[in-house]
Amino acid sequence: MGDWFQTVVDLDATEQEAAGLADRALAWLIAEGIVTAATSDCVLGGGGQGHAPGPHYAKAVDDPAPVDLWTNGLHLQTGRTVFDSGQGEPAAAVCPLCAAEVRLLDEETWEEIDGAWEPFAGKFAEWTEGGEGLVRCPACARESSVARWSWEDDYFACGLLGLTFWNWAELTPAFIRDLGRQLGGHRTAVLRGKL
Ligand SMILES: [Zn+2]
Repeated sequence: MGDWFQTVVDLDATEQEAAGLADRALAWLIAEGIVTAATSDCVLGGGGQGHAPGPHYAKAVDDPAPVDLWTNGLHLQTGRTVFDSGQGEPAAAVCPLCAAEVRLLDEETWEEIDGAWEPFAGKFAEWTEGGEGLVRCPACARESSVARWSWEDDYFACGLLGLTFWNWAELTPAFIRDLGRQLGGHRTAVLRGKL
């Protein structure tokens, strides 16, 4: 048994926008009754303080049964963050410039391919600390920020704003679309995982 989470990451929010967008998204979630305004000890991380499901929680998910677990809240995070899907590791990454797929795990043995992570070494840390984290693509030899690479099954997403829902039933596509609208129509990635 672990705790299951879904994180909606805003892929376009800038340093200037992130906090304002987080406030706006939270105000909308509270107004819709999807989360409570008050915070309580109901999430992992962030000092444990999050927003518990509100009276209309069911509007956001595909199963209206209440979340009968201590960990059942929403945790908002702003600032440069490499969001991940918890357990496991990504099987492949895709270059934003040439769309080549860089395999990280062997398709048969599911073992890490020797040297496959080399172009990415230290790049997430560099980006988190405010740098570009330039990755040279092994296929096209051009460089782009690690934040622009995509990862199989959205394993990673680099962003400045993320909303993590703990132990909620699956968020519906309509809810994710409406949430995206509150985020100024920005592109979003949805990471799903377990801790
Ligand atoms: Zn490339």
